[in-house]
Amino acid sequence: MPHSYVREARKRVGPKKQRIGPIIERLERAHPDATIALKFRNELELLVSVMLSAQTTDVNVNRVTTTLFEKYRRPEDYLAVPVEELERDIYATGFFRQKTKAIRGTMQTLLEQFDGVVPRTVDELVLLPGVARKTANVVAAELGEPQGVVVDTHVRRLSQRLGLTRQEDPVKIERDLMRLVPREAWGVFPHLLIWHGRRVCIARRPLCEQCVLTDLCPSSRV
Ligand code: SF4
Repeated sequence: MPHSYVREARKRVGPKKQRIGPIIERLERAHPDATIALKFRNELELLVSVMLSAQTTDVNVNRVTTTLFEKYRRPEDYLAVPVEELERDIYATGFFRQKTKAIRGTMQTLLEQFDGVVPRTVDELVLLPGVARKTANVVAAELGEPQGVVVDTHVRRLSQRLGLTRQEDPVKIERDLMRLVPREAWGVFPHLLIWHGRRVCIARRPLCEQCVLTDLCPSSRV
């Protein structure tokens, strides 16, 4: 899109600081069911699910964890089986060798440094081997203590289309969103963008005519 159109569109919708409140309210009304799609029953299952979800779909992870979590209930259980057995059990989520290594390292550290209990802060979570900042952010947010804004492919695309950031790098996008989004919405905001991205603001073909944000979005096609 030529620069003049982009400038015009930005002018039409107004500054992002004024738009962010109505954007969140409307998305909450449009997607009242916007929550994490991974299935888990406790903190340990949440952590493992998020670790397994790298480079695959939540549906795929849920399929694997239905049986996985019956077999592995405590951190010790992941260390009690041969490496190859855990690799086989999570094989269908892809990158099974790296994921097995990360999960076993994490379980070891949980037992050695955290009494086998999943910590709640991002600073502690990133001490677990194989737990990157994004994973830590997701886990902390689900435990009710978001300390950042999770940026995945949907969050990145929608933040850019909505003119909430001009950045490409997820770390810089997160920084922009943390400045803009009220802290009490840090947890829900990524879920709202993810569900809106899956249902309406689809990557290849955004359904602008069905979108509740057309008057607030500089990329609207209607
Ligand atoms: S108006 Fe179109 S581009 Fe903007 S958020 Fe809605 S679907 Fe996406």
